Amino acid sequence: MIRIVGGGLAGCEAAWQAASRGVNVTLYEMRPTTPTQVHKTDGLAELVCSNSFRGDKLDNAVGVLKEEMRRLGSLIMRSADASRVPAGAALAVDRERFSRAVTEAVAGHPLIAIERREWTDIPEPREGAPVIVATGPLTSQALSEAIRAFVGADHLYFYDAISPIVLAETIRHDKVFRASRWGRDSLRLVNAECQTQHADGGANGPVDDDAVRACGADGGEGDYLNCPLDEEEYARFYDAIVHAESATVHDFDKERFFEGCLPIEVMAHRGRDTLRFGPMKPVGLVDPRTGTQPYAVVQLRQDNLAGDHYSLVGFQTQLKWGEQARVLRLIPGLEQAEFVRFGMVHRNTYINAPTVLRETWQTRTRSDLLFAGQVSGVEGYVESASSGLIAGINAACLALGTEPLAPPRTTAIGALGYYVSHADASNYQPTNITFGIMPPLERRLRNRQAKKLALAERALRDLASWMEESGVATPYTPNGAANLSAEARSAKAEAAPYR
Ligand SMILES: Cc1cc2nc3c(=O)[nH]c(=O)nc-3n(C[C@H](O)[C@H](O)[C@H](O)COP(=O)(O)OP(=O)(O)OC[C@H]3O[C@@H](n4cnc5c(N)ncnc54)[C@H](O)[C@@H]3O)c2cc1C
Repeated sequence: MIRIVGGGLAGCEAAWQAASRGVNVTLYEMRPTTPTQVHKTDGLAELVCSNSFRGDKLDNAVGVLKEEMRRLGSLIMRSADASRVPAGAALAVDRERFSRAVTEAVAGHPLIAIERREWTDIPEPREGAPVIVATGPLTSQALSEAIRAFVGADHLYFYDAISPIVLAETIRHDKVFRASRWGRDSLRLVNAECQTQHADGGANGPVDDDAVRACGADGGEGDYLNCPLDEEEYARFYDAIVHAESATVHDFDKERFFEGCLPIEVMAHRGRDTLRFGPMKPVGLVDPRTGTQPYAVVQLRQDNLAGDHYSLVGFQTQLKWGEQARVLRLIPGLEQAEFVRFGMVHRNTYINAPTVLRETWQTRTRSDLLFAGQVSGVEGYVESASSGLIAGINAACLALGTEPLAPPRTTAIGALGYYVSHADASNYQPTNITFGIMPPLERRLRNRQAKKLALAERALRDLASWMEESGVATPYTPNGAANLSAEARSAKAEAAPYR
């Protein structure tokens, strides 16, 4: 028997996968008895915000992940495909139909029992009864405390202040320069800067070093790409940011502003120079081409595992995604930037996955305990469901006395498991699936579209081999297969000239 806590996207997918392998499952969901700040219904797999599962083509990493999930017999994908509404190249759903489809499938499965109650601690180990914690970004307070006690106080986070990430090859390298802001012992300076990012301006005393790093400030620990702005460019950027449209802010976000890092637009609204004395401070940076210190600077930091991504340091933001793209492209060097991930600030309970999890989504210290979904350190509906898919398979393996499995890293679903368990733990932030966290192709392709499609083709091929070798196969869901073979063919055709 398997116990799954949380009936969201990850928990329902996990329950379905385990039950499909003949294992009894009890799924615990606290709603409606105990509500969250955001969920509105008592339905399972309720979508808390957008109704989009994002891109559905194979030149998009999340499109590949979805296709892999379909091939692995995903309940979430089956329900999403059945609730699809027109959305161009994306997969968007009728949220009520989607949640109803998942709820009916889970409730109607003869091997799944649903109990509506809140777990306030992590279930104790019990012979042959693994546990999956899939309680999401809004994990209840009591359970959050229990998770914190299990993983250690430093390894559970309660909110997310995410800076945008751009694709390295879309940065104008002729406009930026490489340098670190300060020397190694400069954390005090960074500390001083970071206080300007806090609503109290540091009035309550200095923030500690960890808080400084959590703000994403340059700790003088490595090389950065620096985008220099002169006075005129800064003025144009500043005017754009104060007039840009912000995404909806939930009430609880306000409270967080007093404790955590401020979105750049909030800082900008405090005064024309606040950003220049905050994350855009030029002190300690000399542009080698002019020999002078720029008026302001935006720093870009390489993502450690995905070397072809750079994040904008200290640029957490709640601007609408379209507005982010428009405003941030005013920064010299980012005129043609392609955004891999946009900035966000939202409530998010998640573990520092690289210190806690193995590639199989089992915890390092208790092999019968698995985490899945947003609380496990992934970001997004599809990523959450996909982690639940593998956690469900592995919980079934444990219940049946077989070895847990990890899909190859060359698949999107395997790359995600590898990333969460191996990324740099010092500044871990939940991750979306991107091609950048998959191993590079053996041969170099210059055409970006061809490269993406070649990665997709390799992922699906390796998934098929893995499914056959590991015996993990479930009934094949052909949804999307037609467009797949067409695109795989086109990937081959496009890739040929660059061989
Ligand atoms: C405000 C907000 C907006 C978001 N918007 C988007 C978006 O637009 N697009 C996107 O892709 N991602 C979004 N996300 C991120 C994330 O992908 C979703 O939150 C997603 O639902 C995560 O799936 P999950 O299964 O991990 O968690 P959930 O879907 O939240 O499921 C967790 C379930 O566990 C239950 N639960 C919690 N604690 C307990 C307990 N102690 N005992 C029993 N049950 C419990 C909850 O009631 C919930 O039903 C958003 C997150 C937040 C917080």
